[in-house]
Amino acid sequence: MRALLLSEYKKLSVVDMPMPEIGDSDVLVRVRACGICGSDIHGYDGSTGRRIPPLVMGHEAAGVIERIGPGVRGFEAGDRVSFDSTVSCGACDFCRSGRINLCDNRTVLGVSCGDYRRHGAFAEYVAVPSRILYKLPETLPFERAALLEAVSVAVHAVSRRVPAPDETAVVVGSGMIGVLIVQVLRAKGATNIVAVDLDPRKRALATRMGATHAIDPQEHDVPSAVRELTSGRGADVSFEVVGHSETLLSSLRCLRKGGTTVLVGNLSPRVELPLQEVVSREIDLLGSCASSGEIPESIDLLARGLVDVDPIISLTAPLDEGPALFERLYRGDATLMKVIIQP
Ligand SMILES: [Zn+2]
Ligand SMILES: [Zn+2]
Repeated sequence: MRALLLSEYKKLSVVDMPMPEIGDSDVLVRVRACGICGSDIHGYDGSTGRRIPPLVMGHEAAGVIERIGPGVRGFEAGDRVSFDSTVSCGACDFCRSGRINLCDNRTVLGVSCGDYRRHGAFAEYVAVPSRILYKLPETLPFERAALLEAVSVAVHAVSRRVPAPDETAVVVGSGMIGVLIVQVLRAKGATNIVAVDLDPRKRALATRMGATHAIDPQEHDVPSAVRELTSGRGADVSFEVVGHSETLLSSLRCLRKGGTTVLVGNLSPRVELPLQEVVSREIDLLGSCASSGEIPESIDLLARGLVDVDPIISLTAPLDEGPALFERLYRGDATLMKVIIQP
């Protein structure tokens, strides 16, 4: 089969590789679409240590089942499917309590980090355990389904603290995940959604996707602007989707007393925390990582058109264009949001 192989850091090429072998409970998927993730770009140059070559990356994929292992039930060749990027064990305490994103034995498709190497979906075929597989409705195109991981991250973040319809939610950062959080909030009935971003195009997109207000943090002090919108009270919940000290400060200071910040972004590994404000105003800080069982709900949101990923898909391209597109994304081409490879 043809695959996009990272043979050394920053060196990707399309090569011939043996077909993946499947175990008893695995399926072989003919990949039809696979998104390039930010984590793939960060892994491409070795900076994260989670893409040790040689490796086929890619974990945001959809396709058609080619073949199933003898122990697989509930799926058959020809089924249109997508899958979780996280392979959870199904047996540890976290898995058994439903928090599969916290699995003790978690591995990720398209990652190699010293402990394991799991080839991913920038290839014609990928092998995945049937436990993480989900059937797709006929009406959902593969290219949209490749955004399911991103949608599920947004659904999970909102599930950490679902605002009531009359509450105010602030989303700090209107990149891909921020815009998806805006849409999920709207789908769950929120009517006051404030988006914050430096980039006017991203603010415009957030507004188009359901934000009721958009704030430019360069022009306005975010906490004061949010207070103006909430009769002086402050927001009930905020989503921090960047991960810098300044954006965290905005997320905390725009809240009412007893409000909640859901932490999603983590661009900086460390940030400054105004401890006294958090303690004396009894702010709840909640981390949100990946997703845990929200893929079916995400499929439903996409299929019903309640979440629209088309404005997020910048372009789709064949496998051969993979190396050039990785290089473009690596150089920080700001015109690209999600790039989908069609192997
Ligand atoms: Zn991803
Ligand atoms: Zn587990």
